[in-house]
Parts: sequence; C-alpha cells; structure tokens
Amino acid sequence: MPPIPERASAEWRRFDADHLIHPFTDPLALAAGGGTRVVTRGEGVYVFDSDGNRLLDGLAGLWCVALGYGRSELIGAAERQLRALPYYSSFFHTTTTPAIELARLLCERTPPGLDRVFFGCSGSESIDTVVRMIWNYWDLEDQPRKRILLSREFAYHGSTVAGASLGGMSNMHAMSGVLAGVAHVMPPYAYRYGRDETPEAFGRRAADAVEERILALDPERVAAFFAEPVQGAGGVIVPPESYWPRVQEICRRYDVLLVADEVICGFGRTGQWFGCDAFEIRPDFITVAKAITSGYLPLSAAVVGERVARTLERKGGRLAHGYTYSGHPAPCAVGVATLRILAAEGLVERTREETGPYLERCLREAFAGHPLVGEVRGVGLLWAVELDRDAASPLPPEGELGLRCLAHCFDNGVVLRAVRDALCFCPPLVIRRSEIDEMVEKAKKSIDRTAAEIGVA
Ligand code: PMP
Repeated sequence: MPPIPERASAEWRRFDADHLIHPFTDPLALAAGGGTRVVTRGEGVYVFDSDGNRLLDGLAGLWCVALGYGRSELIGAAERQLRALPYYSSFFHTTTTPAIELARLLCERTPPGLDRVFFGCSGSESIDTVVRMIWNYWDLEDQPRKRILLSREFAYHGSTVAGASLGGMSNMHAMSGVLAGVAHVMPPYAYRYGRDETPEAFGRRAADAVEERILALDPERVAAFFAEPVQGAGGVIVPPESYWPRVQEICRRYDVLLVADEVICGFGRTGQWFGCDAFEIRPDFITVAKAITSGYLPLSAAVVGERVARTLERKGGRLAHGYTYSGHPAPCAVGVATLRILAAEGLVERTREETGPYLERCLREAFAGHPLVGEVRGVGLLWAVELDRDAASPLPPEGELGLRCLAHCFDNGVVLRAVRDALCFCPPLVIRRSEIDEMVEKAKKSIDRTAAEIGVA
C-alpha cells in the first residue's frame, strides 16, 4: 500500500483546512479564497496540482529548487545513503562520510578564509548558530559588551526568535517583538529611498547609514552586521556598486563582524557561486541553505571564517551548541550530488553568461515603458518587477496590487512571489530559454490584466 492514499482534491483541501497550520498564511483569507492548492508532482521547471493544472515554477519552490524537479541523481543519492546509513549524529567524536565530503566541497567553493562548516536543517538554524558563535567569540576575546546585532529593514533571516528579530519584516516584529539588542538600518533599496539620486550616491548614503547607526549605538557594543548580498525575500533589493565596498570598510573600521546571509544568493543564483563573489564581499561568516540540496532535503550550514574559528577552537573548549540533525547524512549526500551537478553542468556560468542575461533582456523588453511597472531590477536569475503603486488612483494599500497580480499569475500558469508590490522571479537554474519566454509572457499577461482592471493604460 502506498504511504499516501489517493483522495479527491476537495477532500485533501478539507483535511488541510482542519489540520494544517500554514506558514505566513492568514487562515481566514485562505478559507475565503477556497483553500489550498495541493501540489502533487514536479518535473523540470513545472509543478502539477491535484486539479490537473500545470504551473511553471518561477520561484524554484521557495527560492531553492535550483536543479528543477525529478532529478534522479539527487533522488538516487538520498536513497543510497538512507539504505547505507539513514541517520547518525556528529556529536561525541563521531561523524559520517557525507557530512565530511560536503563540508570539504563547500569550503572549496566558498570565499577565501571560510573553511569551517557547522550544519543545521534550515536557514534559520544557521543564523541562530552564527548569533551564538558571535556572542561566544566576543566573550572569549574579552569584549563581552559587544552584543548588539545590526541588520537591515526588509531583511529576511528566518523565523526562529533570533532570525525573526534580525529580519527587518515589520509583520514578524509585530507578532512577537524583537530581541533586545537587535537594531535595523535602511537597506540599499533605491526604488524606495533613493529615486532622486544616482545609484553611486545612493549606495554611499545607504552604506553611511550603517556607520551612523553603529556610532549611535556605540561601536564598542556592536558585535556584527548581518546582510544578504542581495536581499531576496525583501523584494530582490540589489545594492548599487558603491554599497558593499563602503560597508565592508565601515565594519573593519569599527571591528564589527560581517555575516553574509547567502541562503538565497548561494550556489549560482547571482551568476557566481556566492553572492559574496558577485559583490566582492569578504565576510566573517556565511550562512547557506535552500539550493545546497536543491531543496530536496532540509539542510543548512554556517560557514565560519578563520578569525572566529581560531578563537573558538583555541579558547572555546567544548562547543555548547548542536542539533540532532547537524550533519545528517542523507541531506549531506544530496548536497554533495547537488554541488557536483552545479559544477558538471556549468550552471553557475550558464546563469552568468546565458540564462541570466537572457531573462534580463526579456524582462526589460516586456516592461519597457509599461504604465504599471516602476522598476525592473535583478542579477543572475534573481529578478523583480516592481509595480508602480502611484500609477493607480486612488492609491491602493501597499501589497494589494502585488497580490492581485499574483492571483492572475496562478490563473495564467506561472508561480511567482509578490513581495509588497514587487513580483519576484527566481526560477530553477536549469530553466531553458523557451521556458524563460513562457514565464515572462505569462507574467506580462498578468500585469497587463491588473493594469486594465484598475484603469491604468
Ligand atoms: N536567510 C535568508 C536570506 C532567507 O531567504 C531565508 C528563507 N527564505 C532564511 C534565512 C531562513 O531559512 P529557513 O526558512 O530555511 O529557515
């Protein structure tokens, strides 16, 4: 008997409504909208639902399925590992071969100086790991006053208490508050904060905001600055070129550790192996998850730079931190297979040289002069089309146009993500040109329909 029974769509939806609490979902809005879409199968860049619809997945699941659906190499790697050894811990002087191999391969690819890996299951866990290591590091360095963690508005760093606090999402803060000692600063979001400036000047001003905040908080108390190279779930916020060099200089000047959250940017998304490579960032830590297994099994890692690793190893004693599934052999085996495929198929280079530029061209052509489009921005295969709310009259509440447009995207057979009024694109890296054409065409149809409905022409 198969473990999951056959049922009609309506029955699945009913059981779902009765029993499942959905992340980031308003249950009343869900019920009013007819309940959940039950996704049953995936193939390449497409997913299929229990009503028989085929959808082009322009978001790679949740920014993670880099290699697309149905990759037999990844499934085989998981199966072989589960048969050989489905679980063993890396506590108490034991280890497993997939964890060692993945850590080794990862460090070959990560920016210089990042050579120690601590595994978890989720991006959130890797962020928490880094927070604990940072506090421990400053204690060991006899600077216990360095406790404050700085990050940015619209950042996303996960849903644990530390992650939600570090993130810059006001709805998450409203739900459960923010940990004491976490502060936020303006992101390099030119469309919102710097439309009247040159990108160069705005990038510098956004970086200077980091310095001002550090000075206001007291540099002796600021432990670390957390930032995604490109803010993903915040709406694909791409920093101007002047931003990162200056931010790094500021972190060095005030001895503030730099954490690059690569959970979305990592593994080729920007056209380089890591967002740090794309923006020449040399951080003290990176966090990775999602595409490390192409989303096939849960896995994350905190990759620790030399400076912190040396102190923790020499002065730290026994690390009082760990998860049951740290270094779980099955996801690590899938991670090894994922990294091998990314390299063997040249997907990072292809994103940089072929599919990324092609997607950019398609988006720019489709939306040049569009009355409802304020900005097209992105890098590699990570893009956003921000709708111009000001074009609508009366001014709609923030996010309303995005949601409306997203519903049309589903109707038209493409899955995207609306962040406020920005439609985000993050397709599997294996996407073909013809599929990019289809994705952009369907998005355009959805935006055109939204524009027609609100009388913007
Ligand atoms: N950091 C970033 C940059 C993310 O995008 C996410 C997830 N979207 C996280 C951390 C948290 O990852 P997870 O959902 O796996 O906990």
